[in-house]
Amino acid sequence: SKILYNNQIIGRKNMIDIEDRGYQFGDGIYEVIGVYNGTPLMLDDHMERLARSAKEVRLTLPSTINELKNKLVQLVAANDLNEGIIYMQITRGTAARWHEFPKNEVPPVTIAYTRAEERMTAVEDQGAAAVLAEDIRWLRCDIKTLNLLPNVLAKQKAVEHQAIEAILHRGNTVTEASASNVFIVKNGELYTHPANNFILNGITRKKVLQLSKGLNLKVNETTYSVDDLLKADEVFITATKLDIVPILKIDDQIIGFGVPGEITKQILQAFRSLYERDNPN
Ligand code: PMP
Repeated sequence: SKILYNNQIIGRKNMIDIEDRGYQFGDGIYEVIGVYNGTPLMLDDHMERLARSAKEVRLTLPSTINELKNKLVQLVAANDLNEGIIYMQITRGTAARWHEFPKNEVPPVTIAYTRAEERMTAVEDQGAAAVLAEDIRWLRCDIKTLNLLPNVLAKQKAVEHQAIEAILHRGNTVTEASASNVFIVKNGELYTHPANNFILNGITRKKVLQLSKGLNLKVNETTYSVDDLLKADEVFITATKLDIVPILKIDDQIIGFGVPGEITKQILQAFRSLYERDNPN
């Protein structure tokens, strides 16, 4: 398969230096973009978020957002990808290992590759279990950086409990999950943590907010407690390519009736129509 390496689309081989700052410090940013029917979904939103992440960690992007976008579209075509994801990361480049930024500016290292993946239709329709885990991350979870060790540990806990996700809480407040955002439904209204420094502002989350408006569903971007989560009528998670997955059980607690809820199903249906109609926006 082909990869994007800085400005070129070339064959995949080992070309990352041991002193790449991404490798040594997690000093870089990334995006994961879903590809449906050969088309990257919500690419503009992902690129906008990438630019924001870059700005927040003071990393200068190697080219304009439009150039990066074009390269990603070229990469999808070069790999003939129909269903799957694009992974893209940009690090602060390669330099002698000192924590501070390199003195003489070095060019960032950009890589992107694609991975074919089946749609998660079955789990979206049937739902899955989750576990709870303390949110031990730093205070800038809004930046999509390469530092994912707390997320890795939380997800591993989930997998060891036959669960799809670890839902994170800071003290009593539910933030998000290890690699997805969390919504609850109570008395016909949706609740999700506000998009501040404690969560990643998911592109799927943003789309669900839009779709909910269209469905005349009230969404409250407010914090809610672990108790609210466990007593919710419905719970679902959102993320790229996972789309919307109903959560039917959290630790030992059955959520609602233990089956995917009506509001969750409505939103899932609306989300699917975005790419089933081949509409990339
Ligand atoms: N929160 C975290 C911590 C994530 O890593 C992700 C992405 N996997 C999300 C939320 C969901 O974001 P998106 O919908 O943009 O994929």
